[in-house]
Amino acid sequence: MRLVIPICTRGVTVSRVLSSGGTRPEGSSRLGGMITGMSETAHSPRFRPKKVYLAEPSGYCAGVYMAIKALVWMTKIFNPPVYCYHEIVHNRFVVEAFERAGVVFVDSIEAVPQGVPVMMSAHGSAPKVLSDAGARAGIVIDSVCPLVTKIHHEVKRRAAKGFDIIFVGHEGHDEAMGTMARAPSDMTLIEPETGLGGFEPRDPGKVALFAQTTLGMHEWEAVSTEASERFPNLVTSRKSDLCYATTNRQEAVLAMAAECDLILVVGSENSSNTNALVRTARVRGTPAHRIDSAGSISDEWLEGVRVVGVTAGASAPDHLVREVLDWLEPVEGWHLFRVTEEDEYFPLPRELRAFLTALISSIQVGFTAKPDGLGALEYDRRITATDALAALEA
Ligand code: SF4
Repeated sequence: MRLVIPICTRGVTVSRVLSSGGTRPEGSSRLGGMITGMSETAHSPRFRPKKVYLAEPSGYCAGVYMAIKALVWMTKIFNPPVYCYHEIVHNRFVVEAFERAGVVFVDSIEAVPQGVPVMMSAHGSAPKVLSDAGARAGIVIDSVCPLVTKIHHEVKRRAAKGFDIIFVGHEGHDEAMGTMARAPSDMTLIEPETGLGGFEPRDPGKVALFAQTTLGMHEWEAVSTEASERFPNLVTSRKSDLCYATTNRQEAVLAMAAECDLILVVGSENSSNTNALVRTARVRGTPAHRIDSAGSISDEWLEGVRVVGVTAGASAPDHLVREVLDWLEPVEGWHLFRVTEEDEYFPLPRELRAFLTALISSIQVGFTAKPDGLGALEYDRRITATDALAALEA
């Protein structure tokens, strides 16, 4: 076991962004960190847009912050390899950063050796997977987002009351699999594009509707309208099951798309909320493309384009967004397109906090370094996921 307590790496320069002619309003610090050892862009566009907007909010959400920091803690506490069931978050660059630090990602608990530490991903895992992990691993930390856990509880509650449950989500997505496993015999998975189709409940008076947290708002509205019309006693959330981060990012891209000729969404192919952002911009009528990084931008997309809007999925690292802004080299610089501000914070997983508390209590090492009189756990709120990843690579 390694006893290294990461305290803080905050305060890294943002000069790369500012040197490209960008404008950074007061109070915006989300591009303030940097990860080393990642892809760099070496070329500029053939067609420079006049102006670039960066959506706010975009990029990392509170659930992703929490999961990334939790896994960084695991790599600092335990000798490698640390195992992680499923990708910790759906972003290739984040996953590769952890792999370089000795994390092994697996899609089956059988692939985990006996007695090693295991982290469960932010998307939520099936109960059987969790119990298998508990029987096999030395320690299991579940970094499921609390907003996913909330839906798990609701699904179980309604299933126990005899409801037929419609779950709107994407087949094969980690979150959908984890949620469907809460009450498999009472749930029917509906793809958002297909609608209810031939769904027939046992009792039309006892139907509940839930959804993956990362759907498109327009997709949720279509299915919930159809379900409400077919089942007047439908039980569903007051607004939607889409999480605050999904909703805020989509509202921002909708508003921004009205001012833009092109939308670029930074995020990985398997990121549901990233793809939902692309679909949302297209619903508004603005051409939109998902990009892994600046290197995925096609020059042809920019021909005749004056204003580009940039946003990012909830698991996309800030440095990739920064590279896109640099690469585009807008003639009049880039500007924040702020729709709302977020200050959600999710504490580290309970099991990890308990473990760290026990660890810190048993040793005195590290306390001399605590800043502002705070212990490492209290200080967690101030550390961004970007800071944590930088500490990982350091
Ligand atoms: S996108 Fe929403 S549900 Fe998913 S981790 Fe982020 S806050 Fe949680």
